Parts: sequence; structure tokens; C-alpha cells
Amino acid sequence: MRSFSEFSIAKRSQLWFLGVVAVLTIVSANIAWLFPTRDELSEQAYLLHRVIAIDVKNQLFAFLSRYERSLSDGVDVLNQIKERKEDIISRLLKENQPFESLTLLDNKGNEVFKNHRFLLISESDLKDRSEEILYKTVKEGRVYRGPVEISGISEPIITIAVPVNTNTGFSALVAEINLKFFLDVVRNVSVGKEGVAYVVDENGYVIAHPNSSLVFGRANFIDRKIIAEAVSGREADTRAAGFNYTNERGENMLAVALPFELMGWAIVVEDPDSAALGASSRILNVAIISFILEILLVILLIWNYLNLIRAAALFYGERNQREAILNSLSDGVIEYDSEFQIVLMNPRAEELLAVHFKDIGGMAITPDFAKNNPQYKSLVELMYPALAPYSSSIKEVPGTHVKTMEIHTSSPELKMIVTLTQVIDQNGSVRGFLKILHDISRERLLGRIKSEFVSIAAHQLRTPLSAIKWTLKLLLDGDAGALNKEQTSFLERGYDTNEKMIKLVNDLLSVARIEEGRFGYDFQDINFNEFLEAAIKNYADIVSRKSINLKFEKIDGELPLVYADSEKLSLALNNLLDNAVKYTPAGGKVLVKLERKGNYALVSIMDTGVGIPDSEQPRVFSKFFRASNVIKMETEGTGLGLFIVHNIIKRHGGDIHFTSHENHGATFIFTLPLKKELVPKEEAEPLEEFLENV
Ligand code: ADP
Repeated sequence: MRSFSEFSIAKRSQLWFLGVVAVLTIVSANIAWLFPTRDELSEQAYLLHRVIAIDVKNQLFAFLSRYERSLSDGVDVLNQIKERKEDIISRLLKENQPFESLTLLDNKGNEVFKNHRFLLISESDLKDRSEEILYKTVKEGRVYRGPVEISGISEPIITIAVPVNTNTGFSALVAEINLKFFLDVVRNVSVGKEGVAYVVDENGYVIAHPNSSLVFGRANFIDRKIIAEAVSGREADTRAAGFNYTNERGENMLAVALPFELMGWAIVVEDPDSAALGASSRILNVAIISFILEILLVILLIWNYLNLIRAAALFYGERNQREAILNSLSDGVIEYDSEFQIVLMNPRAEELLAVHFKDIGGMAITPDFAKNNPQYKSLVELMYPALAPYSSSIKEVPGTHVKTMEIHTSSPELKMIVTLTQVIDQNGSVRGFLKILHDISRERLLGRIKSEFVSIAAHQLRTPLSAIKWTLKLLLDGDAGALNKEQTSFLERGYDTNEKMIKLVNDLLSVARIEEGRFGYDFQDINFNEFLEAAIKNYADIVSRKSINLKFEKIDGELPLVYADSEKLSLALNNLLDNAVKYTPAGGKVLVKLERKGNYALVSIMDTGVGIPDSEQPRVFSKFFRASNVIKMETEGTGLGLFIVHNIIKRHGGDIHFTSHENHGATFIFTLPLKKELVPKEEAEPLEEFLENV
């Protein structure tokens, strides 16, 4: 099997490979669509400009043809009725706005009649034009179309001459056509927002342009290669090398130039690149943005995946650590889900329950699972404590959600303290249960051996101590002869010490029996009020000797009989009263109060003594506990009294607690049930003691 780090390295290099492939794919996909699209868009832009140029060309052609036709129509009429020449010419002028002047040439090439739209023509203005190409052209019967000339007021003018039938005595009708009327046409052509269409003559002079100042200012663009090309009869556009140029604002232009063969002119449609190829640059921007976004996406994906690998590494690491901890635990751990399927079992749990996880992992363990599989009896009893030979009540560990209980199983025979926790998933619902098994069979055995030992030792000691007691008593009573004062005093001290020894031995014996669960109780109904009063009376002598004010506050009204073992109860009560008197200095007060709280009698023993230091209070009911302040006082005591009291009260179904502040006295409060049902049926081995040890 590959280790996780090998796996993660393999995954990482795979990831980098995938990342590179993804980036390359994105780059090539973008290139694959971007460049053809851009080429196509630029092609479209040229096409559009060419279409506009063709349109302008057609309009220019229509413009010239129209006036040429008017002229020919005029000539046709003239051929028939030459006498009406003035009328014909003035009518032609009237009907054709662009006609600047109309002139008739005679058969020799002299101007014989001329009519000008604005000027008065006199005889002297008439010229001999026989030497001009114009005359020679019409003589050959062809229409003459002259170059562009500039009028007196800087307007572009062309001359067109149509031959006239020589029978009339005339040779040609010559018209000067003002091209400014073509300006409106180029003005109305729309070439995007910023583009223009214009016309140049064979020498490159602008003869029609939306910006008429270029026309009147005689702008010349022949140095633009594209124009030179078009006037020499060849279509051209700025895609060809060397044909590009910039406008007056320095912007690169996209232009198409068409030759206007009829006149040797050129039509140009131009637009700044930025406007003409706007769509293309927008596409480029979109491509760049989408490219960046795609790359970011790839990076994000890789980053996420890397995080995933990292999280997996962490998870593996934690799992290994958890496994190591679980494997080395000296307590058994078993986890099962809400369907009672075993999810986890550490080696110690396998050892304790004598099962193998691999055999039962994932199996749902039902209460009758052990019927056919007796080897799993203990496991079933552990999971269903009600089936176990013994299971204590569940006790919550204070301040946690952890619960503990004692379970004894049958096969294998085990005594365990089981700590139970619920496994909660991230939604807060219970996913399963975790049980920690602490085997106390051995501890129990040792405890029992220890108790038995103490019990036997105490028993053995009790007989000689009694013998000593009676011997000393005999001597003190003078049964063996009179004693002097000194002898009496010695014997009295010996007697007291012996009494302490007897108390210690008795306490030890009681503790041992309690721990073995055979303290031996004998329950009967007792009148608790009277019982208490009698017990307190016994202290009259002691308290008066110590000048302590001992008071008993009786209960108001009647109290039901209490079901109790009077001998054990007096042992408990005497211990509490002993302590109150013992730990209260002379002049102090002890108050015993009996009350009723629902189904319980409540006794409080309040004193004004030395109290118990705060930090030591949690250990007050443990065996051999003696607070530091009383050890200093050197009062006698075994530290076993309260342990015994606690157990006696618990056995009676009551409870005991106290409040105290050092140097401000202590109050011990215990309860006893007033109903038989509340008294436990049998004596149990004290779980608490074991829990403390766990
Ligand atoms: P001991 O034989 O020492 O009295 P106990 O088990 O009866 O043993 O009491 C344990 C310890 O609890 C005492 O040593 C003392 O420190 C403390 N204690 C018990 N009762 C009182 C009390 N009324 N006032 C002050 N301290 C007390």
C-alpha cells in the first residue's frame, strides 16, 4: 500500500500537469477563435467601406451622366431648331443647377454664343478654341470631358462638350459643370461616426469632400499611395503594404480607394482604424478578459484542490495519531453507530471482551446477537447493560456530558467502569456512542483483599483492646486495691488512649465492612424526633465541660416515622455531633435543627467552630481526610468518621452536604426519607470510591 505522502506527492504532480494542460487548452482555444474572428471582422470592415465607395462611385456616375444627358438632349433640340439657340441654352441653364455656363462653338472652333449663370458675356469674351483638345475631340464626334479647374471663387468646375450636327453651323455645345453640387452627395454618405467619403481628381486634388474647406483650399492627397494607385486606375486599400497612412490627427486610417475610370478620378472612403475596427478591438478586450478569468478559474481550482490534499493530509495525520493513541490506551475503547454497528474497537477492548474487531466490524449487534454467538456475550451485555448480570445506575460526571456506570459482564467475567459519550455529528445529531472500558476486576479484587485484611486485623485487635479496657477499668475502680493520685492519673491516660485505639479499630472495621457491602443494616420504624433528642441529651456533660452552648430546635408539628437502622444512625449522628463539639472552641455554639422538606426529614448541625478551608472541602467525605487547620490543633481523630456517616446516610436513601468557611464554623445538613419506598433495597458496594480512583 502506498503511504499518504507518496499519494499526496503523486496527486500534486498530477495536479500541476492538469493545470498546465488546462492553461495550454485555454490559450490555444482562445487563439483558435480570436485570430480568425479578428481577421473576419477586419475583412468585413473593408468590405463595408468598399460597398460605400461603390455607392459613391455610382452616385458620381449618375450625377455626371444626368447632366451629360441633359446636354445631349439640348443638342438634339438644337440640331432641329438652331434658330432658337438662345432659348434652348437659357432653358438648359435654368433646369440644370450645376451648369455654370453654356457655350456654342462654330464649325471653326470659335465661341459664337455663350451664356453664363452669373456673368454678362460680351463679344470680346468669346474665344477661339480651335486649338484645344476639346474642339479636336468633338470634331471626331466624341463627347469631351475635361479636367477639373477652379473657378474664380475657388469652386471645382469640369467642362463637358457634346458635338452638334455641323449642318447647324455649330460644332459643339460646351457646359461648365460646377462640382460643388456633388458635395451634398459625399456629405450625406455615412461612414460610421468618424469616417468620410471623398473624391479626388486625376492629380490628387480633393474635388468633393464633406469638409468643403479641403475642396476650396485645394488639398492634394496624391502623396497617399492608395490615391496614386486609384487614380492610375487600380482599386486599392490600406491592407496592402505601404498603403497605410495617418490622417491629420495622426490616427491610422482604414481606407478603400476606387478608380473612377470615366474621369480618371478616385473615390476614397476612409475611417480611423479605431472606429472601423472597434468591434475587433472590443472582441480582443473580451478575449483578454475571458482569458484572464479562465486562468484565474484554473488557479482557483488548483488552489482548492491543493487545499483538499492538504486537508486530507491533515486528516490522515490526525487519524494516524488517533490510532496510535487508541492502540496504546490501557483502557478499552469501542464505538458504535445509532444502528449499533461497531465502528471502532481498540486492541485493549478486543483483549478485554475476547473478540476480534475484524470479525464484527460493521455488523449490527442486536440484543439477541449472543444467542447464536456466545463468544460475544460480554460485548452484547456491554452494549445493552440491562442484559448484564449487574449494571449500576448511570452517573453523570459533573460539568461534562460524560456518563459513567459500572457494568459486570458474564463471559468473559468482567467488572468494568464504563464511560459513555455520545458521538455528535456536525449537524448536532447523535451519530453513535463511544464507550471507554476501564477494567476494575483486579482493583475490586485488591480492594476486597485489602478490606478483608483490615477487617481481620481490626477483629484481632478488638479482643486484646477490650481486655486492656476492662483490666484498666478494674484497676481504676479500685477492685485491685486503692491507688494513689499519680497512679490513677497514669491509668486514666492509658484508659483514654486505649479508648482511642478502640474507636480507631471500630472505625476501620466499619469502613472495611462498608467497602465490602456488608455493613449489615437492620431497619425499623423509629420516632426520629425523640431519637434525635435522646442523642443530643447524651452530650449534655461534654458540652457543659467545654462550655459550649448546645441547642436542639425541634420540629414544628408531627413527623412520620423514619425507616432506619437506629444503631447505624446513632453512629452517624454521634460522629457529626462529636465533630461539631470537637471543632468548636470553648464558648461557642452548636445548634441542631430538625425540619421537614417534602418527603424528607432534614437535619442541620450548625457550629461556630474552626470551619474547613475552602481548598480542602471537596475531600471532606473521603477516607482518612483531616483538614490542615485541625491537624494543627492536634485534636484527635481518625479521618474516617465522615466517610462512614456519608455511607450510612446514603444507605438510608438520604443525602448529606455541608457549607463552611474557615474560622466561621460549619453546617452539616443531611436528609432521611420519610417513606419506606425511598430507602434502597440493598446495600451496594460504593461506586463513588472507585470512580474517584479511576
Ligand atoms: P475526624 O476523626 O478527624 O473528626 P471526620 O471524618 O469526622 O474525622 O472528619 C474529617 C475532617 O473533617 C476533620 O478532621 C475536620 O478537619 C473536618 N471536619 C468535620 N466536621 C467538622 C466541623 N464541624 N468543623 C470543622 N471541621 C470539621
